[in-house]
Amino acid sequence: MAQWFPETDALARQIRRLAQHGALPHAAILSGSGDRLGAARFFAAALLCRQDEGRPCLRCSACRKVIDGIHPDVRLVQDSERRELSVETVRQLRQDVYIRPNEGERKVYIFADCEQLNERDQNVLLKIVEEGPAYAAFLFCAESASALLPTIRSRCVELKLRGEDEASVSEDALALCRAFASARISPVVQLTVGWENRRMKREALQQALEDAWQLCAQALLLQCGKAPGTGPAAETSDALQRALRRHQLQQLVECLRQYAGECRYNVGPGHVLGALAARWEAIIR
Ligand SMILES: [Zn+2]
Repeated sequence: MAQWFPETDALARQIRRLAQHGALPHAAILSGSGDRLGAARFFAAALLCRQDEGRPCLRCSACRKVIDGIHPDVRLVQDSERRELSVETVRQLRQDVYIRPNEGERKVYIFADCEQLNERDQNVLLKIVEEGPAYAAFLFCAESASALLPTIRSRCVELKLRGEDEASVSEDALALCRAFASARISPVVQLTVGWENRRMKREALQQALEDAWQLCAQALLLQCGKAPGTGPAAETSDALQRALRRHQLQQLVECLRQYAGECRYNVGPGHVLGALAARWEAIIR
C-alpha cells in the first residue's frame, strides 16, 4: 500500500477544514519537507470522498481507491525514468483533462515532483490550470514552491507540510484515546464524567473529539499497513491499533466524527459525553 499522510500533520487539519467549508482550491502547491505525495493523496481523497461531512473519511470506496492509488479519476503525473517529463506526457495530459471523470465528480492531477516540470511544460500547464474544466484539480508537490514559475504559483494556494514532530494534539484527546486503548468501559466513563464535572466547554470538547477522531483514523491506517511514526500522538494511535479490532476502530472513528460534528451544532457537552460513553460501551462489549 502507498505510504499515507499523517493525520496529525497540521496540514491534514487544514485540508479537512477547507473541505468542511467546501473551500478546497482547484490548484494547490504542497510544499515543505515530509510526505508531500501522501498529502496530495489526502487532498485528492477530500475532493472525491463520498461522505458529506468529515472528508476525507478514509473509509468510503472513493477514499480507499485514492489511498490505494487505483482511483480512475486521480492521475499521478511523474516519470521515474527521466529527469524531466516527456513532451508526450504533457501533451496527453492536455487532452485527458477534457475527458470527464469516470466515477467521481472531480478529476485530480497530482504532479509528484515539480522539479520534473520544465518551463515549457509549466507554460502548457498554466493554460490548463487557468482555462481547464471546473471539475479538474491540480496538485503540485515540491520541496519549495520556487520550483514553479511565478505565473503558476499565483494561480495556486500553497499548503505547507510541517511534519509529524510539530503536530499538536490536545492532551484531552490523548487521554481519551489512551482510555479507549484500555479496551475497557470504566476508564472512558471515568474520564468523560471528569470532563463533565469540570464543565468542559463545547469548543474544547469539539477539539478533543476531532483530535481523537484523527488518532483513531490513524490507528486504522496502521492496521492497514501504514508505517508507525514517533511522538505521543503516533504512540497513542499505535496503542489503539493494538488494543482494538478493526470493526471497533471503525465504529469509534464514525462515532467520534459524529459527536465532533454535533459539538458544532450547539449540542450541550454533557449530552455529547453521555452519548459517547454509551456508544463506547456498545462498541467494546
Ligand atoms: Zn471518503
